[in-house]
Formats: sequence, structure tokens, C-alpha cells
Amino acid sequence: MTEVDLPVAIVGSLSPSRAADFKTCPLLYRFRTIDRLPEAPSRAATRGTLVHAVLEELFDLPAAARTLDAARSMVPAAWARVLAEAPEAASLFADDADGSDLAEWLSSAGDLLGNYFALEDPRCLEPAAREERVEVVVDGLRLRGYVDRLDVSPAGDLRVVDYKTGTTPREAFEGKALFQMKFYALVLWRTRGVVPRQLRLMYLADTDTLSYSPDADELVRFERTLKAIWAAIERATESGDFRPSPSRLCDWCDHQALCPAFGGTPPPFPHDALANIGDDRRAAAAD
Ligand code: SF4
Repeated sequence: MTEVDLPVAIVGSLSPSRAADFKTCPLLYRFRTIDRLPEAPSRAATRGTLVHAVLEELFDLPAAARTLDAARSMVPAAWARVLAEAPEAASLFADDADGSDLAEWLSSAGDLLGNYFALEDPRCLEPAAREERVEVVVDGLRLRGYVDRLDVSPAGDLRVVDYKTGTTPREAFEGKALFQMKFYALVLWRTRGVVPRQLRLMYLADTDTLSYSPDADELVRFERTLKAIWAAIERATESGDFRPSPSRLCDWCDHQALCPAFGGTPPPFPHDALANIGDDRRAAAAD
């Protein structure tokens, strides 16, 4: 009889956002991934989606046409697409009778695009990929997410680029952002066999960049960290014990009313929790 390789059983799925949630606050992970509680859209996060959409599309233009004016002219159409995909975003401007708030907010997206152009000239770049879904299965654990941009040099070096537009405090955001970038570096290394030469975070609000060069040993350690996080998620799911871990990020948490750290009571733990953590559907949007 001929031996055949059976496909590896997928025991779970982790995105950088959900892994970082668990690391930051296990109860936040539970609320988002297991209870799947809705979260109100915010102007800051929605503006991030809008700016990402413009920066992705900008590279559809011929190189010479990628100017700041061209980018800013793309904002209204990108906003229309954001609204079509997430109609609840319209509620952000429900009280804006004369449209002045919306106009100012769209203009602030244009300002972020101006900051982007201060950091690099897109006419000199030809990205290898934009909004690229990356995924690998390690010992049955699916690791996946979306990379904002992937640049490949003529020598074959990879650079992972991520645009940051949010208003979370820098030190908290930086830890989470580096975690996310190492996650992508690991997945790219495991799928392409090349450790990315550079991870580049572009902070558009600050007109600043953070660059980081991972090495293989570090990524091996990071892979062990992800497996340990997954093992902890499985244990918490089996016991239903997801503890709150208060921090400055609570100021940005939509779920304070249900959080024991703020006097709330979480909803009953769902019976299908294990199925939810294996599926992790919401994470794609969060990434
Ligand atoms: S309010 Fe803070 S401690 Fe509570 S779930 Fe949210 S992040 Fe966790």
C-alpha cells in the first residue's frame, strides 16, 4: 500500500490582532473573538481604513502620476467605498447636519496623506504586493493576516511596510505594532524561506518611521511565543476563565460596561467557544 501525506488538522487560527488582544487582556480577546460583541466605529479607526484604501490604490496609478494631489483627489471615492463596505460608519457623522465635521475629517485624511509623502516618494517605488493576505500553518495552528505593503528589492530582499494612522498612545501601540510586524515576518519566512530584511512602520500622524530588522533566531523564539499564546487561549477557553488585565488601553475599550475591572459582569460564557476560537472570523477585518 502507498503511503500518502494526510493534510495537517487545523487546531486553531491566530491573527496578530487577536494574539495581541489576548496578550494585552484575555477578557478583551474573549469579548472580541468568542462573544463577538459589536464595537462602535470610531472616527480615528475609520480614517485609518480610508487612508489605507487611498495608499493601496495610489500604486495602481502609473509611477509619475502618484502625486499628493492625486492621492488627495482619491479621498472622496475611497470614503464612498468605505461606506459601502461598512455602512455603520455613516453613524460617525449622524449629527453633522451641515457636513462641516465630515469635511474637516476628510481634510484630516488628506493631511495624513501629506505626511506620508513627507516620508517617502511613491513615484520611486513599485510594491510587490499591497493588502496581501499571508498565511501559514505551524503545527496545526494557522497564522494569518494582511500585510499593507510588501517591497522586494532587485536582490530579492523583502521589506514589510505597515501604515499607522491611529491615536493610541505611542508606547502601547509600538509594542503591539512590533508584535504584528514580527508575526508577518515569521509567516513570510515560513512561506517564502526568506527572513524579511526590514520591517518598516510608518507613523503618518507623527511623520515618523520605525524600522526593524529581524533575524531567524528571533523569529524562532517568536514562533514559540505564538504557540504559547495559543496554548493559553485553549486553556482559558476550556475553563472559561478569561481575566481582565486593566491598562491604559482600557480607555479605548468598548466593553468597560461588561468588564469586572469596571464593575461590570461579562455575559454567560458561550457553549460554542471552542468553535469560535478556531474560526476567528472577525480578525481579518481587524487586521
Ligand atoms: S476594559 Fe480593560 S480590562 Fe476590561 S476588557 Fe477592556 S481592556 Fe480588558
